[in-house]
Amino acid sequence: MPAISSNKPYRIGRSRTGLGLFATKPIKKGDKIVRYFGPLLDSRNKKHEGIENKYLFELNGRWTIDGSVRKNVARYINHACRPNAESDVSARKRKVVIRAIKKIESGEEINYDYGTDYFKAYLKPIGCKCASCEKKRKKLRAEAREQKKLAKARLERKAAKAKPALNGHANGTLLNGRGKKAGLVGKAAAAKSGIFAAAKKLNRARNAAREARASV
Ligand SMILES: [Zn+2]
Repeated sequence: MPAISSNKPYRIGRSRTGLGLFATKPIKKGDKIVRYFGPLLDSRNKKHEGIENKYLFELNGRWTIDGSVRKNVARYINHACRPNAESDVSARKRKVVIRAIKKIESGEEINYDYGTDYFKAYLKPIGCKCASCEKKRKKLRAEAREQKKLAKARLERKAAKAKPALNGHANGTLLNGRGKKAGLVGKAAAAKSGIFAAAKKLNRARNAAREARASV
């Protein structure tokens, strides 16, 4: 039996984090989408102890499904913090079914919440890339940009207010602004000519020394 036949409501496709599972037809809320399956690992079995991969689905303290097998198409389903599906666990039957928790449109990626343990171990260190977390990050970035803009505007207003006081004038911001600028330019020019004068002086001294040497 092929892993995916055409009557299945999903296909494997490119997702923002690699591969993912996508609906190929509308899926109703509550519908079973696919089973999460693989060999059962028993915590009491010494041979199972060393098995470690990202697709282990713990059913209870004793049983774990090793979902890393190729035929387990459900392993392509990515995590989302606000998913459209859930993992329906029957520990007694040792069975997990991925089920829609809202209507999923054709073309939509199927996600379920992997749970806090997985999130802490694998997603938190690298940053969750699910749609709602990306949206949250985008919003935070936009807010930070807005804050920066506001802070800059505040500083500019403060600087504009501070100008008359610095100039010693109490009124007429526009005139004062011009006056201040002119003052600055004047100062810069004076400083430059000062340097120029110093250079001239140095040259004169050098020439005098050269002349003195020549005359010896
Ligand atoms: Zn997330």
